Amino acid sequence: MVDTGSEKGFQLRRQGDLLYMQAPLLAGCDGVIHAFSTRRGGCSKGDMAALNTAFHTDDDTGNVFENRRRFLEPLGFHPNEVIAAIQVHGSRVRRVEAVDRGRGAAPGNFLGEGDALITDLPGLPLTGYAADCLLLFIVDPGVPAVALAHAGRQGTLENMAGAVVAALNSHFNADPARMLVVLSPGICGRCYTVERDLAGDFREDGWCKKPYLWEGTPGEFHLDLAAINRRQLLRAGIRPGNLAGCRWCSSCSPALFYSYRRDRGKTGRMMGLIALQGGGDGAAGGGGA
Ligand SMILES: [Zn+2]
Repeated sequence: MVDTGSEKGFQLRRQGDLLYMQAPLLAGCDGVIHAFSTRRGGCSKGDMAALNTAFHTDDDTGNVFENRRRFLEPLGFHPNEVIAAIQVHGSRVRRVEAVDRGRGAAPGNFLGEGDALITDLPGLPLTGYAADCLLLFIVDPGVPAVALAHAGRQGTLENMAGAVVAALNSHFNADPARMLVVLSPGICGRCYTVERDLAGDFREDGWCKKPYLWEGTPGEFHLDLAAINRRQLLRAGIRPGNLAGCRWCSSCSPALFYSYRRDRGKTGRMMGLIALQGGGDGAAGGGGA
């Protein structure tokens, strides 16, 4: 399986009981805070165990808030500051402003629908949620500007990767040739199978052979979302050396990751976060724990 640059992609980090991930490609980028959570180190029970970060699950809201606190505090953020959109498996990109801080911090208080967030303002924690889908972490250190995009099957079919790169360019004059991009863990092509109809949508779009799409047992098609997203990013102008994949599969690693497919929908979500450092006012989202 092609996975270029995974050594610069997400790696496990430990802080006490908390296991999370950071990518060397972005860690070397001054003034950018980023991380991807694992399921380890949280307080949720049962199918949601342990560090579920999303409200749109069967989890208790208080648990989600506590899990977010455990993940965010070492990064310098409070759960009240979280910014998130309602992910609808599309390719809509939303520009985030200072007034949006905290829109995503509680059930019923979201930015609205969208699957990618972009900003050039410091101190705004852009977040995305996934359990098999990919999160794309993007930085243009020259602006600077950051983006976090959610790309599952439908978002990938709609070229979310290309859409978010184009939005960074049109809003902030960001340059694809300068952008650094890291893909989160997601479901691998061996684990992810789709039926003929869905495979047909990808085939019509030109994704008709390995490493993107291939037939396993007759009628069962394997889809590699990461391979397609990498190709879309290169087409959008990202340089190969500035693009890092990930060697981890959400479905293959039940001890570390939630997987919607593997767990038949009864599962939690990992959180991805990216922000530009600064902004000054710290816990502006309401102060204190
Ligand atoms: Zn897998």
